[in-house]
Parts: sequence; C-alpha cells; structure tokens
Amino acid sequence: MTKIGLEIHCQLTKLESKLFCPCKADYREFEPNTNICPICIGLPGSLPRLNKKALEKGTVISLALNCKIPEKISFYRKNYFYPDLPKNYQITQFDAYGPTSIGSNGKISIEGKEIRIRRIQLEEDPGRLIYEGSSEKTQITLVDYNRAGTPLVEIVTEPDFENPKQVRIFLNILVDLLENLGVSEPALEGALRADGNVSIEGGNKVEIKNVTSFHDLEKAVHFEITRQQSLVDRGIPVELETRQWDDRRKITVSARSKEEEQDYRYFLEGDIPWVTLDPQHIQGLKNKMPESISSKRDRYVTQYNITEQVADVLSSDKFYSDLFEQAHNETNAKEIANIITTDLMGFVDTNEKRQKLKLNPQHLTDLANVIMTNKITRSSAKIALQEIVNTGKSLSDVISELDLGHVSDESALSEIINQVIKEHGNAVNEIKEKPETINFLVGKVMQKTKGKADPTLTLELLKKKLIS
Ligand code: ZN
Ligand code: MN
Repeated sequence: MTKIGLEIHCQLTKLESKLFCPCKADYREFEPNTNICPICIGLPGSLPRLNKKALEKGTVISLALNCKIPEKISFYRKNYFYPDLPKNYQITQFDAYGPTSIGSNGKISIEGKEIRIRRIQLEEDPGRLIYEGSSEKTQITLVDYNRAGTPLVEIVTEPDFENPKQVRIFLNILVDLLENLGVSEPALEGALRADGNVSIEGGNKVEIKNVTSFHDLEKAVHFEITRQQSLVDRGIPVELETRQWDDRRKITVSARSKEEEQDYRYFLEGDIPWVTLDPQHIQGLKNKMPESISSKRDRYVTQYNITEQVADVLSSDKFYSDLFEQAHNETNAKEIANIITTDLMGFVDTNEKRQKLKLNPQHLTDLANVIMTNKITRSSAKIALQEIVNTGKSLSDVISELDLGHVSDESALSEIINQVIKEHGNAVNEIKEKPETINFLVGKVMQKTKGKADPTLTLELLKKKLIS
C-alpha cells in the first residue's frame, strides 16, 4: 500500500516580531541583512527569548487540529551545518522524552478519512540563500538573514495519505483553516511550504524536499509514486533517500543519502527554560478562537436556508465570509450570499484585486435591498456591483449615473406600453385566442426600456389595457 506523510511549514505572518528576538517578523520589505540583531544571527553571548504571541498562535493551531497540549514545553537544538543557519543549529521542538512540543496526537477528517497529526512544533525559519543563476552551476551564493529567526509552525502528519488527491484535499482544507484562524497569509510567497515522504509496497521511504508550492507537492508525490512503482516492477530496490523537487523540470532528483533523526544530534536548548502552560490561559485562547469553517457552513444552511454549495464556498474563504458576516441580517442573508458567490467572487478573483477592493459591507446590504424590493433587475445589479468594486461609489449614485433603476413610474411606463401596442397590432389581436401572447408584449416593453421596466408592473398595465 502507498503511504504518504507530510511536513508542512507555516509562517506565522501576523506576528510583530521574530520567534526569539525583537526583529520584525515581516522580513519581506527590508534590504538584505538589515532586519537582524545579535540574537537572530547567533552572535556569542546573545540569549533567545520566546515570543509569547507565537506560542499562543501555535497553541491555537494545535487546538484547531485536535492535538493534545502538554503541561510543559521545551525547545531543542537541531544541529546541521549550512550557510542559511547562522548558529549552525535551528531552535525547534522535538519529542525526545515524551511530548514537549506545542501539540501532538491530533487528527483532522478529510472527506470521511481521518488523517492523524503526529506533532506540531514551533521553530525558527532559516535565512534565505540566493543563487546567482541556476543552483547547480553557480559560483556565487548570497545569503540574506532577514528571514532567520522568523516564527514557523511545523505540522507533521502520520503517513495516512494513500494518493496525491488526498494530499491536495488536505492541503486545501489546511490553507482555509490557517487563514480562518488568522495566523498566516497563504497568499504570501513562501508563507506555506511542504515536504513529503512517500513509500510504496516493497520499497523504502523516500523524502521529497524543496517543494515551494502546495500545488507542486501534489505533482511531486505523483511523480514519486510512478518512479518508485517502475523500480519495483523491474525488481530494482527503492533506496532510502532524500530527493529534491526540480521546479523547472517537474521531477524529483536524488539529493543526498537520507539523514536520520540522530544525525541532527538533537539536544535540549538550555538557553530557553521549560515553559509551563497555564490551563486557564489555554481555555481562554480556546474561547476566543474564531468559529470553525464547518460550523459556519452548517449555520449558513440551517439558519439562512442558503444552499449547501453556496455555504461551502462562502464559509471556506475567510475574506468573503467576513464580508458576509458584516453585511447580512436575518432577511437578506441568502441574497447577499448569492451576490458574493455568483458575482463578486468572479470580479475579485486575485489577491491583488482583493487588496484594491473598494466595496464595503454597506454596499452589499444596499444591493440586496434594491434587488429584494424589486427596484432593480439582477442584471442591472451585476453592472452596479462591478462599478462599485472599481470605484467605491454609493449604490444610489451608481444607479443614477448608469441609469440602472427600474422604469416604475406608471405614466412613463404607460406611454411606452402604448407605443408597443401600436407597433404590434397583430399580437394584440391574437390575445383573445392565445392569452400567452401577452408575454411577447412584455418582452417588447423590456426591449424598449433596455431591461429596466419593472416586469410585474408592465404585465399589470398590459392586462389592464388589453384584457379587462
Ligand atoms: Zn533579531
Ligand atoms: Mn522544520
């Protein structure tokens, strides 16, 4: 049987400072090697201090993934020699003598299948290496320590996935969950990275490293299963090894013989004391956690009669469900959910457009109101929405500027109807025998008003003029 396990690194991008020093957690805007201090570049004599907020975010993620939180946590040094690691060790967590990392033994269900979470650990990100040209041929490697020491949460699963599709579904759910918790921004480059390990029946475990996007991880796992299967089929043993994902060629290549955990010589980080977690504080964090995606979805269906499909789309996207929460009330909820999922999501389909979005919750409330009171047709509402998204103008301004309102003034409409009756004498004569012909005349009125006539009023007036 194919077994796939994942190790996911998630940057805690909503924090102010790094994991063990006061440098900025948001390293992205800095000139190289300017967001650094003696602690994060490991100068002798400097001492790390744990970021309390990072510990809280790690706790919240562990709770959301149904992990056990230990009474006390400790930190370990993971030793390896690489230029992106200024101290030659990474401060991380490790369950050498029982669970002392922030979370362990969790689980999450994906489409009825349970995926076990082995461990969740807080750790520091290394610096960034920048190769001049391609990484194989380059003579020059630049190093930028701005990222060194920024807070990461690593999520380690048991090898419970059986195929690449399950991996993809899990990662999608995890991205939505982390975003909903407000701990990370998946849209930021490098905020979420994943490594995988794959073993098939009769082969050794192969680790896949260097996958920089979740999308590529599914491809990498798929490639690896196919590669290993073709080896086994030909009677060639699958070696225990680490392979790098080659982003350009979309294949895995042999990297080095696999390092075993003992090669890292984990030992306790003596510069950071054990931290006792106060159960009351953890309960407080639990109480303040945002509503989960699944409970949001169920609530939308039962409370507002929103279809399951719309509720699914809306609840899993924090950006839009926040907008919905601010805009809706008991009566307009369904209409607003439909406006968001059918029209707005189409207009605002990239992260960049989300950031530039001029629309506020009040716009949605107003829009639902004019649709529900029949003051504007749905197609006109869509035109108005597009204009609001781009300009942020009020709905009433947009309706009058673009002339989108219904023609519901009886005398104006009556005049147009009289014209239509004059122009379509044949149809008018047919009405006695074929009453449905009246719909043809309604259509003609709509045409003349470019879809802005109030259809109910039009039908009423036509009947009054022709039938009674
Ligand atoms: Zn620092
Ligand atoms: Mn790690």
